[in-house]
Amino acid sequence: MAEFTMELNDEQKEVRDWLHGFAADVIRPAAAEWDEREETPWPVIQEAAKVGIYSLDFYAQQYFDPTGLGIPMAMEELFWGDAGIALSIVGTGLAAVGVLANGTEEQIGTWIPQMYGDAGDVKVAAFCSSEPDAGSDVASMRTRAVYDEAKDEWVLNGTKTWATNGGIANVHVVVAVVDPELGSKGHASFIIPPGTEGLSQGQKFKKHGIRASHTAEVVLDNVRVPGSCLLGGKEKLDERLARAREKARQGGERVKNAAMATFEASRPAVGAMAVGTARAAYEVALDYATTREQFGRPIVDNQGVAFQLADMRTSIDAARLLVWRASWMAVNGKPFTAAEGSMSKLFASETAKKVTGQAIQILGGNGYTREYPVERMHRDAAIYTIFEGTSEIQRLVIARTLAGVPIR
Ligand SMILES: Cc1cc2nc3c(=O)[nH]c(=O)nc-3n(C[C@H](O)[C@H](O)[C@H](O)COP(=O)(O)OP(=O)(O)OC[C@H]3O[C@@H](n4cnc5c(N)ncnc54)[C@H](O)[C@@H]3O)c2cc1C
Repeated sequence: MAEFTMELNDEQKEVRDWLHGFAADVIRPAAAEWDEREETPWPVIQEAAKVGIYSLDFYAQQYFDPTGLGIPMAMEELFWGDAGIALSIVGTGLAAVGVLANGTEEQIGTWIPQMYGDAGDVKVAAFCSSEPDAGSDVASMRTRAVYDEAKDEWVLNGTKTWATNGGIANVHVVVAVVDPELGSKGHASFIIPPGTEGLSQGQKFKKHGIRASHTAEVVLDNVRVPGSCLLGGKEKLDERLARAREKARQGGERVKNAAMATFEASRPAVGAMAVGTARAAYEVALDYATTREQFGRPIVDNQGVAFQLADMRTSIDAARLLVWRASWMAVNGKPFTAAEGSMSKLFASETAKKVTGQAIQILGGNGYTREYPVERMHRDAAIYTIFEGTSEIQRLVIARTLAGVPIR
């Protein structure tokens, strides 16, 4: 187990500086253009692939960093550059983690390389769980996967929504119901290989922020995939379902939900994205406040402006500390007895929303225009309080964990 530290080691500092350079030189200058175009920034993803940032190797190296600081550090730097573009770069990693966490070695080796493609022909992947009637309430999912034993195939039907990279992905990871009696314990994840018949993109959403990131519905109409596309394999699924049925027969359970533990481990990464956006807006505001003069002096000489900057920086640093703590806990297998992962995501995302709003205020009229980046950052920041569980759901998870009652 790695000791908790707030200091990056030399290797981490080198990676951070390299990522910061990419974020400053490649991502930030492209941000306004792709926000306006509302399209996936393929040339930027390609650049990231060329230098090694868009790859499983890079992602896995940060993911398995024993200090737990690899992923939050990487997310903060990339999202400091721009949230929409950064999500286009890391969105595939989020789908890949689903395969890394639940897939067999063969599935990991077969599908993850196809999720990324290569620098000459980059691909993206999508993770599709949310549905029109199953957002916060994941258990009410309807997409159904039925096993056709004679052909050793699964048949999937349903509509997924809000899928990042949905419909443009080379590989889709789809969560579906395999046993409706078991609620969220009756779900399983499937790989939908490139070019599979019956999968199509529905509506592409026009969004308030992170507009460079593609978000769309994914329609599954009699999608047939080989048995080998069930993540983890049939034997493991049958064992898991049998255990869940047995527990249900015994009259419910108060044991910890494994899916919830996974969320606790993944939520700090979203917190780190929020820290990156908040820090970016704070830096623009600080710079502006020290150079913009009114009444014959820089506006930062007014306590009303200076105190806002003090509060912004304090919240950002506090958010980062919560994120780093939760990431360290996740990597070192510490139990989340107070839902520390959810805490970090809640605080960091609310901080990003607030700080980017304060940045607009400090820039005055300029802050309200697209001539300056804080307007975009404020629109982008709103997503952090919504995806990977809304702020209300984080509070619900924290409160129920503290009270010792089941999450659902
Ligand atoms: C840009 C974007 C990208 C996304 N990417 C993905 C993706 O790649 N894959 C994927 O599967 N999903 C993705 N999502 C979906 C996202 O996770 C959901 O939008 C989110 O979980 C909320 O679900 P919902 O939108 O249905 O809102 P609802 O669940 O309908 O919630 C609406 C409001 O009610 C509140 N609420 C609901 N239940 C409670 C409760 N019990 N107590 C208090 N308040 C409650 C919520 O907090 C919210 O304020 C994405 C969403 C967006 C907007």
